[in-house]
Amino acid sequence: MTIAPHEPVPYAEATDPAYAVRAAETFTLRKAGPDLLVLSGPCPRCAAPLEVALPHMVFRGREGVFALFRPSHPRPASDVRDEPVVCACEGHHPDRPEGHKGCGAYWVLRISSGDA
Ligand SMILES: [Zn+2]
Ligand SMILES: [Zn+2]
Repeated sequence: MTIAPHEPVPYAEATDPAYAVRAAETFTLRKAGPDLLVLSGPCPRCAAPLEVALPHMVFRGREGVFALFRPSHPRPASDVRDEPVVCACEGHHPDRPEGHKGCGAYWVLRISSGDA
């Protein structure tokens, strides 16, 4: 699959195993508050920068040791959570229904605290 830089991909609610693989490699997780984690990275479909707040996510693990896994990754022994992510970019995508955001891509990020 190729993404033409000057031609926005049409809106399509779709997922692809490659989205999760790419997002696991490019997304980062940071602590934005005492009870708030934020995932950020480029949408694997339309490449728009995304931020996903995870307000109710608490890890026992030390800060800075979060790891992201693709869903096919074997479940580690540590705390793991599968977080569904939907593209909510502000970019223009043809064929997008009224009231929708993003390009329609969705995928799952497997997040581990790294706390073995
Ligand atoms: Zn987009
Ligand atoms: Zn997108």
